[in-house]
Amino acid sequence: MERTAVRGRLTWQAATVTGLTPETAAVVTIMLDPPDWPGHQAGQHLDVRLTAEDGYVAERSYSIASAPADGEADPPVVELTVQRLPDGEVSPYLTQTLAIGYPLELRGPVGGWFVWDPDGPASTRPVLLVAGGSGVVPLMAMIRERAAAGSRAPFKLIYSVRDPGTLLYADELARREQAGDGLEVTYVYTRTAPPGSSQPTGRINTATLASAGWPPDRSPAVFVCGPTGFVEAVANLLVRAGHGAGGIKTERFGPSGGKP
Ligand SMILES: Cc1cc2nc3c(=O)[nH]c(=O)nc-3n(C[C@H](O)[C@H](O)[C@H](O)COP(=O)(O)OP(=O)(O)OC[C@H]3O[C@@H](n4cnc5c(N)ncnc54)[C@H](O)[C@@H]3O)c2cc1C
Repeated sequence: MERTAVRGRLTWQAATVTGLTPETAAVVTIMLDPPDWPGHQAGQHLDVRLTAEDGYVAERSYSIASAPADGEADPPVVELTVQRLPDGEVSPYLTQTLAIGYPLELRGPVGGWFVWDPDGPASTRPVLLVAGGSGVVPLMAMIRERAAAGSRAPFKLIYSVRDPGTLLYADELARREQAGDGLEVTYVYTRTAPPGSSQPTGRINTATLASAGWPPDRSPAVFVCGPTGFVEAVANLLVRAGHGAGGIKTERFGPSGGKP
């Protein structure tokens, strides 16, 4: 990576909010235009810093939802999708107070492990994405990147949510799946299935991974993202099913940041 790109990643910069899209009752997508964006890979995250009038500072990490190509546009477009935690410090501000035109300090992109590269050495391998709740955000960036790059790597997404009202990107996922170019999506509802559905509710289990995922002998690249407990449970199930631990990449959306 170029030295200027590294400097860009490590330096705080002020972006402006250029758009806000409500996704669900508790989730908002924030569009930003970081002036010195060095580019990113699908799956990376960035850090957001809020500074109160009294100087108090809070930092949190957020996955980048948009495809790398959007970050290369002029001006760059970087999207975050943030879920509000009712007792949270930062997410209520980002989802309820932030308005178009507001500045937001950010630093990134961060992380070079949990990434999918359409031109990388494993670019034609089948891919299994397993998301719990807002853990779908970096996986959506991979799905968007696959489309933007014209990749035909076969992708399967297993997406676990509590109920249909908490699904993110539902229309876009349906549209991309209907394109019929190798993306398959399976929804798992832990509490309430869609009206009229005979699908049982419950957590992702061995049977789900066997029916909606890839068999281990296809050597898929596996990306699992969500709350810490979800990620650990799914990774254990995958290893027990015969997937090599080395092929499973995980990202945990546990508490992040605090005071810098
Ligand atoms: C690499 C990475 C990427 C992330 N990407 C996203 C993303 O794309 N979208 C998104 O909405 N969040 C994401 N997160 C989580 C995010 O960084 C914050 O932790 C989250 O927004 C809560 O911050 P807060 O200040 O509102 O809550 P806090 O004030 O930090 O915490 C409030 C309460 O909620 C608990 N808590 C904090 N975070 C979580 C969590 N993630 N799940 C469950 N309980 C929690 C705390 O223990 C505490 O009890 C990511 C985290 C990491 C580490």
